[in-house]
Amino acid sequence: MKKIILSAVVLCSTCMLQAQNINKIINTKDVTKIEKVLSADDMQGRRAFTPGIDKASSYIESEFKKIGLQTFNGAKDFKQEFSMTESKNVSLKVLIDGKAIDKVDVVSFSYQPQLDMTEKSDVQVVKINAGDKFGPKFYEYYQSEKNLLVLVDASFKARIQNVKHIPQMTANPGGNTVVFVFGTTEATQFSIEGTNTITKKALNNVVGVLKGKSKPNEYVVFSGHYDHLGVGSPAEGVGHDGTDSIYNGANDDAAGTTAVIMLAKYFKKLNNNERTILFTTFVAEEIGGYGAQYFSKQLNPAQVMAMFNLEMIGTESKWGKNSAYITGFEKSSMGEILQKNLQGSAFKFYPDPYPEQQLFYRSDNATLAKLGVPAHTISTSKMDSEPNYHKVSDEIETLDMVNMTQIIKAIAISSATIINGKDTPSRVDSSTLK
Ligand SMILES: [Zn+2]
Repeated sequence: MKKIILSAVVLCSTCMLQAQNINKIINTKDVTKIEKVLSADDMQGRRAFTPGIDKASSYIESEFKKIGLQTFNGAKDFKQEFSMTESKNVSLKVLIDGKAIDKVDVVSFSYQPQLDMTEKSDVQVVKINAGDKFGPKFYEYYQSEKNLLVLVDASFKARIQNVKHIPQMTANPGGNTVVFVFGTTEATQFSIEGTNTITKKALNNVVGVLKGKSKPNEYVVFSGHYDHLGVGSPAEGVGHDGTDSIYNGANDDAAGTTAVIMLAKYFKKLNNNERTILFTTFVAEEIGGYGAQYFSKQLNPAQVMAMFNLEMIGTESKWGKNSAYITGFEKSSMGEILQKNLQGSAFKFYPDPYPEQQLFYRSDNATLAKLGVPAHTISTSKMDSEPNYHKVSDEIETLDMVNMTQIIKAIAISSATIINGKDTPSRVDSSTLK
């Protein structure tokens, strides 16, 4: 009996201490301060490859340094740098059976500076015929590693603008060329000549580490993406303050990034994490998830026990305050663990109420989930009606900073038994994913 009373007292005092700590450390004033910096106009919408993204990166790095995090795998700083290759087509001449093809009907995908292909070179001619399903056929050829001349039936001409808008940028440029010609169905003799300007540009994630006490080789990841859409044209409207066309991305995803920084502060102060925590802010989510893809290759996914990806947590969820949802809830036991840890608290996490929107696949968690990691996104965004989503009006004034602070606390509390190694979510069965 005595023993039980004693442990109850000990338990309760730890829990009181933690409760006091969490309210002190994760407070609205600090959350607002960070959110304000990240969503400020001088970050210019934090678009990849702009000075604005570098400014955001420097700020996150300085916060990680102040907090006292370590770098990842002995890196010299918190930057996790990688390079992207961009191809810009300068000239393209296509001749098929003696006829010059108008360049409006041609799209080439290539990371080679020079194109020179004829029916005599190593090129395969394939077709997308009338009545074919355009999407799947297009992607099959677009992703091919062979040199292809793809002849597309004239009935698909309306698709050409979308195809031309695909960014010609990649982390892993292939050595092949794929050329789509719309409106031509036969090619016996052909020649394709062209030049591309190939440039390499650096990007970086920002990663800070809090080493685990007893299970340092088991990782828990908290992540958000610090990039956004940049600056639009005045035609795209003006922001909430009515003066500019900067996509501030206050909710998407300065909010998630702010949460990652606040959680780093919190867990560093607690200083009792049994597992290693990786605080990660990704670059280039908005242009294809390249930051998360690079990150996923810098570690062994089997070592990642859980990933909390935080996206748009600055507005009230459809259930009101103190609640959020978890995407892909049924794909691992992580959601149930988080719900269990929130029992008796003021917070509630629900399964994603917008399954038709495929949110599980639309953020950086998906990259790690495909490798088996229990990797989910936590969000409050009302995806059927969020008025400022991907608009210049996504500004700090539209966020509920008190509620956002509460959500960050809820994330901290819900993760406790995973951080201390008592709970381990089941793995995602990647064969069930799209
Ligand atoms: Zn986002």
